[in-house]
Order: sequence, then C-alpha cells, then structure tokens
Amino acid sequence: MPEHPLGVTQNPRFNLRLSKMETPADIPERWHNTPIAALIGAHNFDIPIQPAGNPELLIAACIEFRFSPRVPSMYAYVIRRASGRLLGSEFPMLYTLSRGVKHVVMIAHDDCGMTKVSEQKPAMIQTLIDQGWNKDRAEDFVAMHAGKYAIEDEVDALKSEFFRLRTLFKKIEIAPLFVSLSSHKLYLPNWYLEFLASPAMESSDESAQVAAEDLLMM
Ligand SMILES: [Zn+2]
Repeated sequence: MPEHPLGVTQNPRFNLRLSKMETPADIPERWHNTPIAALIGAHNFDIPIQPAGNPELLIAACIEFRFSPRVPSMYAYVIRRASGRLLGSEFPMLYTLSRGVKHVVMIAHDDCGMTKVSEQKPAMIQTLIDQGWNKDRAEDFVAMHAGKYAIEDEVDALKSEFFRLRTLFKKIEIAPLFVSLSSHKLYLPNWYLEFLASPAMESSDESAQVAAEDLLMM
C-alpha cells in the first residue's frame, strides 16, 4: 500500500463522483456566510477560522490518523468515529444541537479503513487473543461489530448517512463533504449537487417522521 493514497482527482474510484471547490464561489450558496463555508475556506483557501467563542459547528469525521479538521479551539464540536458515520452517536449529536449548533459538517475520505474491515478481521481477532480473550469470544465480538462498522464505499456511505441524519434532524443544515487525504482539500459529492437541484430538497415528508425512530440505532 502506498504511504499516501492517490489524490481523489486521480483516483478512478472517485474522480467522476466528486466536485472541486477551487474558489469561494464554488461553495454552494446556501452555505455562504456560515461556519460550513468557514471550514471549507480553512481547508481549500488557507483562510484561518477566527473563533467566536461559541460552538458554531459540529464536525463528524472518521478516526483516520492521516487527517484532522482545521479548526481552532473554541469553535466546533468534533465527533470522530470509524467512517465518520454517527450511528450510535445520536445522543452526543443531540447534545451539541441543544447547545446551539445549527450547522453540521460530515467529512468522509478516501482510502477509509472501514472499507477493509474484512481483511483486518484476523488481526483484530488476534489482538483480542493477545489481550487474554478466548478465541471463540474474540471471533464473536469481531463478527458482531464488523457488520455495523464496515462500509462498501466511502461516497455511498456518506450519502446514506446524510439522508438518515437529515430525517432525524430536519431543521439544521447538514453538509456532506469529502476530504482527499493527499491534499486535505474538501470536495462536494456529485450526488449532493444533484440533490440540491432536485425538488426533493425542499419537500418535508411527514411519513419520514415515523421512520425516524427506526433509523435510530442506539
Ligand atoms: Zn476512515
């Protein structure tokens, strides 16, 4: 495996599915003058964020060690979980919203380890055995959790999580973004741009309210 993955613009898995933001005008208009645009500015245009002292933003990002969101202290809540999805972290998310946060950024990335869970399983089982677990319990534990955390594809996982969170929290602005590990630049998923241009964007489906509880995986 190369030390640095290909930039997303050279990677055939991603290059036709993501859009660049090369100038501030490329940021979707609905995010202008929001903390979402400020975060994009910090990553893509080297404009440092000036913290106001209040929590302005919730950032949901992967545990990935090759990436850190460029935010100063006194600005954002950050929830970091494998793949960046907030499954099981709805309560801490709710806490940040109750503290006044109205903007959420989800950051997916290329070369995510959660797309490679199946090849990592033997090492994870062996790690538990080395920690004193018996083999059967170790295998059961890994099998039980692997399905919950593993993803097939980083862009698709971001999409399904965006729509799940949007159903749970209808009045906040959620920005699905994708970071290239090689440049730390943020990209827009093309599916989101298509969604912005679609009538579904402004529809509020009441039946989704009932489904919301099913989507909570506590
Ligand atoms: Zn990851």
